[in-house]
Amino acid sequence: MAVRYANRMNSLKASEIREILKVTEKPEVISFAGGLPAPELFPVEEMREVASLVLAESGRQALQYATTEGFGPLRQKLADRMNRKLQTNVTADDILITSGSQQGLDFTGKVFLDEGDIVLCESPSYLGAINAFKAYGPKFVEVPTDDEGLISSELKEILEKVQPKCIYVIPDFQNPTGRSWTLKRRQEFMEIINHYEIPVIEDNPYGELNFEGEILPSLKSMDTKGLVIFLGTFSKIFCPGYRIGWVAASQEILEKYIMIKQSADLHTSSISQREIDKYLELYDIDENIAKIKEVYRKRRDLMLAEMEKEFPDNVKFTYPKGGLFTWVELPAHVDAREVLLKCVENNVAFVPGGSFYPNGGNENTFRLNYSNMQEDKIVEGIQRLGKILREVLQP
Ligand code: PMP
Repeated sequence: MAVRYANRMNSLKASEIREILKVTEKPEVISFAGGLPAPELFPVEEMREVASLVLAESGRQALQYATTEGFGPLRQKLADRMNRKLQTNVTADDILITSGSQQGLDFTGKVFLDEGDIVLCESPSYLGAINAFKAYGPKFVEVPTDDEGLISSELKEILEKVQPKCIYVIPDFQNPTGRSWTLKRRQEFMEIINHYEIPVIEDNPYGELNFEGEILPSLKSMDTKGLVIFLGTFSKIFCPGYRIGWVAASQEILEKYIMIKQSADLHTSSISQREIDKYLELYDIDENIAKIKEVYRKRRDLMLAEMEKEFPDNVKFTYPKGGLFTWVELPAHVDAREVLLKCVENNVAFVPGGSFYPNGGNENTFRLNYSNMQEDKIVEGIQRLGKILREVLQP
């Protein structure tokens, strides 16, 4: 076929891993591969009532076109919530409602990145962001991380050498590692950022899912120069199906996102926005979040305890204090993609870690999700995985 595509399609390859993981949709497979919330916690009955109320009270508006920025009362509630929970100081006017935070990531590419531009990210980082940015042809520079977060001295060194258009980070219960940045690292980061004046994309889908300890101040709350672009979402604290997320940024930057939003899809679903707004009016979402945290905390505890028992000693993993994931590091010579093939034969699955590094390498890592599997499956799945790891590492 002589179809000629845009250059950007060259950088977007079908993932071989995705093909392997397709088999994990079979019911006999215990999959720790996805990043899905637990569907049994979705407030289905409440939303039935809410949907009916929205249609009864404002059906004509809910089904009509609406403003690009988003539904005013929802923007106000989001600003109030952010200020209360994340110690920010934003107003409704600083907020644009997006179709999930994934759309905010795509818009970030459109707003900031031309081909060949440099974007900084944590090493490793969220695969969905890497792929969203890739469509705009940037070069990725990875900033090393450790258990305390992004390493400040490494960031400084990189900024002495390159001039990135922006830096993308997930300071709270990161996808894929489950790690959070310490307060000290957040402060150091903002000092460096303010000095070099680099726009920061703070992606925060998991911050409110803290199982222990306080929620640490967001980077946005420390933003004195209007450099931080905060991405929020209801996907993990409520449910992803409505596809409601938001961007909170300074007026100058937000205007750019609004222009892009207008040409992308005019506005986020009016009815979804109104339904979430009505839910927030009638129910206490914090009660819903408390329930989610309780279930995920138990699943995390169970998974980690089982990993302690089942995994060989030379396998390292993180102890996330919140969020959905733990991150596993095998000895350097072991390729997690090969381990995955063995796992799939034994009906258990994970995501190999290499694809979370935009410049490749680190194939000895993988990500495990604990939010989406019932307790008995977690135990069974980790036992299967442990057996395979013992066979691979201690033949
Ligand atoms: N950012 C991160 C770090 C994520 O893990 C996810 C979802 N897995 C997203 C953004 C996108 O979420 P959504 O579009 O559902 O808000």
